[in-house]
Amino acid sequence: MLPFIEVWLGQQETALLQAGQPLTTAQLRDAQQVGVRYPERIRVVVSEKIPMPQGGVWVVGFYLYRLICRRPIGFALGYGIYIRSPYRNSRSVLVHELVHTAQHERFENLGAFVKEYLSEVLEFGYRYAPLEEEARLIESALCVTKLSNRLKQ
Ligand SMILES: [Zn+2]
Repeated sequence: MLPFIEVWLGQQETALLQAGQPLTTAQLRDAQQVGVRYPERIRVVVSEKIPMPQGGVWVVGFYLYRLICRRPIGFALGYGIYIRSPYRNSRSVLVHELVHTAQHERFENLGAFVKEYLSEVLEFGYRYAPLEEEARLIESALCVTKLSNRLKQ
């Protein structure tokens, strides 16, 4: 992966970790259940706007992200998790992102995970990317109310 993208990812994760809140006891339990090795490192930022660090390099990351999903409900960058305000109380949204946090722990570093994630999305599409399918599967297994039902309300 290009060095400036690695730098951007690091900045983005750090920004989320600094601004975010630690998990509650119930959320820590969910994190453990989906297989996060270090749930205590996680910080969650709830905001209407996607937090973006200042500077030029973020533009690249932003467009990479737009490629995947135009208006994300949430995303995880390592131990930094972003949740859009209306979904702040949605267990399934958080659990989905917790799976991505657990997935990144299986890789050498955050850059390696994002590289794999993006190449899967480019190859299979967002819906059928194996890392996404795993996240959806665990999300549905753990949460009774699924996101699709919430969106219909
Ligand atoms: Zn996902």
